[in-house]
Amino acid sequence: MQTIDNYGFTGKKAIMRVDFNVPLNDKFEVSDDTRIRAAAPSISKILGEGGSVILMSHLGRPKEGPEEKFSLKHVIPYLSEILGTEIKFATDCIGSETLEMKKALKPGEVLLLENLRFYKEETKGDEEFAGKLAEGADVYVNSAFGTAHRAHASTTIVAQFFPGDRMFGYLINDELNSMDKILHGSEKPFTAVMGGAKVSDKILIIENLMEKADNLIIGGGMTYTFIKAMGGNIGSSLCEEDKLDLARDLIAKAKDKGVQLLLPVDNVVADKFENEAATQTTSIDEVPEGWMGLDIGPDSIQKFNEVIAESKTILWNGPMGVFEMENFQNGTKSIALAIADATAKGAFSLVGGGDSVAAVNKYHLKDKVSYVSTGGGAMLEYIEGKELPGIKAIRG
Ligand code: AMP
Repeated sequence: MQTIDNYGFTGKKAIMRVDFNVPLNDKFEVSDDTRIRAAAPSISKILGEGGSVILMSHLGRPKEGPEEKFSLKHVIPYLSEILGTEIKFATDCIGSETLEMKKALKPGEVLLLENLRFYKEETKGDEEFAGKLAEGADVYVNSAFGTAHRAHASTTIVAQFFPGDRMFGYLINDELNSMDKILHGSEKPFTAVMGGAKVSDKILIIENLMEKADNLIIGGGMTYTFIKAMGGNIGSSLCEEDKLDLARDLIAKAKDKGVQLLLPVDNVVADKFENEAATQTTSIDEVPEGWMGLDIGPDSIQKFNEVIAESKTILWNGPMGVFEMENFQNGTKSIALAIADATAKGAFSLVGGGDSVAAVNKYHLKDKVSYVSTGGGAMLEYIEGKELPGIKAIRG
């Protein structure tokens, strides 16, 4: 298979799909440049070999054509500093002027195209639009994992115009390697830690993990659907009434497969959904009427930590409580620290999904876990066992 390391880029023009969908503040300054930094190694590799790079990305969700606040021009100073080179900018991602700029590009130069989503053809996966993106380039590199589960023009369709010259950038390669490590040939015991608000978002991934994991830890808001399904009192905690049967099925399936399903045994409950709410710690199935569980309790933390400490492979997706609020972050923070400790002792840990990534960053543990995935939805779908169109377009 072609890779960014075995392909000769000298004198070639590479069109690279990157994920520069970065947060901008009200002065259009980039408040978190992680995604720009993540693309840099692939870009630098090509430039260093005497190739040139045409970068394409989306930014935000523009509705109808160009909008100042979604312009990729805001990214230029950051990109320029990270790469240590001047960035040329095309104010349209397709069209004759852009094509001229692509043609004029010299080895070692970088051209950034304007936001792909200023054209609705991008998300529609329009073939003609993809063909225009491909024009003037010799090779296609996909370095945007976060959109690999979408069959968009720039993430999937464009690949067909480069039958012998297409590959993943380093970022997708790293993502695939770390997910494959979890899914195939993971060292045992393998523990999956699932949290977050809703069971409905995580059903498929939980089902797929039943086939692979030794331990399945459940925390966060979705706990209560399981607890209610088992006859517990959950007060006004989050609950998906229409998923009670499913929760019972999952519990039965875990038993069947010999997977240890660990639910919290206690929790911190609040009288309202506010940081300043009155709180108490109760048994998980004895949440008083009118109170809601917003974090796992100390006994659950201890129980979960013991299992994590024994694990050799760990997947973490979703917080254990409402960690955005100071008073309900203890469970999430403790679990994050336990995963970091297990990693220091030799476990392989993969953290993915928007909120668990935010938690790892909040507690400065990014370098203390093995891999932090950049693609929430794409990672979930891959681990659910789905074939991602952006991956298939290159792997075939
Ligand atoms: P998700 O996007 O499904 O991973 O869910 C993340 C969100 O779940 C975060 O914003 C948390 O605040 C929220 N969450 C976690 N635990 C609870 C809980 N016990 N009750 C309500 N929301 C929760």
